[in-house]
Amino acid sequence: MKYTCFVKDDKLSHQCYQAIATFLNAYGWQHDEAHPQLVITIGGDGTVLAAIHQYLNQLNNVAFVGIHTGSLGFFNDYRVEEIKDFIQDLITKKPQIEAKQMLKAVIDNDERQTVYALNEVRVENNLKTQILQVNIDNVVFEVLRGSGVCLSTQAGSTAYNRSLGGAVLDEQVWGIQMSEIVTIHNSRFHSLGSPMVINPRRTVTIVAQDFNYSVLCYDHKFFQLQGRKQISCQLSEKVAYFAHYKDTDYLKRIQTLF
Ligand code: NAP
Ligand code: MN
Repeated sequence: MKYTCFVKDDKLSHQCYQAIATFLNAYGWQHDEAHPQLVITIGGDGTVLAAIHQYLNQLNNVAFVGIHTGSLGFFNDYRVEEIKDFIQDLITKKPQIEAKQMLKAVIDNDERQTVYALNEVRVENNLKTQILQVNIDNVVFEVLRGSGVCLSTQAGSTAYNRSLGGAVLDEQVWGIQMSEIVTIHNSRFHSLGSPMVINPRRTVTIVAQDFNYSVLCYDHKFFQLQGRKQISCQLSEKVAYFAHYKDTDYLKRIQTLF
């Protein structure tokens, strides 16, 4: 098996890496950072996101499995205390593969300016009130005023989306969840206000006269939207594959949030 490890930069994660790599190499697994079949993430959910973005151009050939060196998280099946079971399972079991579809955001209709997100895509502006028109497919759905809008996947529903008051989506409940970020609601300005779970086949386009000071955030990454006009979001053809070597209960993971 060709594998690599993607390791959070802290002491515990590095120790964990040493133990895993030493064992797997001795067992005959081949370390291949350029073309791995399995990416072992050691860290947190944030580490998994970073690993997925690192291997974005070869997602079809890679599966991800993670050991969490903090709590448990949503993208990792093992805690650091379970490192022995983890290594044992890697070499003895055949994993179930779970596919998680990513969101795609195209800027100004230019496919060369495309970004992907496993959790969410956000347009954010903390410096001044933004006026954003939201189109869903060909319908001008609303015009909102505030700090921005968040479009989340099912996987991202427990992350930023949840902090915005969005709903946690159970596994297998697909959709693009739209949540407003600190919007103004009064007699002059109206928008839906509540989060909305949108049919996963639709395209959501965010249009602004002026994106000055706005940032496009996608997972842990971002760039300035200065001079841009619109962002179109839909579920993409890119899929991240997670290798599950044991059963995990999504409901139990949600329980760790409260
Ligand atoms: P980060 O420190 O890597 O992540 C912020 C927190 O979000 C961490 O506790 C992380 O867990 C957790 N997280 C990430 N994905 C999650 C998921 N799908 N479900 C539940 N929790 C999740 O911060 P970052 O580098 O700025 O951003 C990466 C992601 O973090 C973003 O996609 C965003 O969703 C999330 N985030 C959330 C908030 C918030 O809730 N207010 C604020 C900023 C960012 P680990 O500790 O296991 O890494
Ligand atoms: Mn983190």
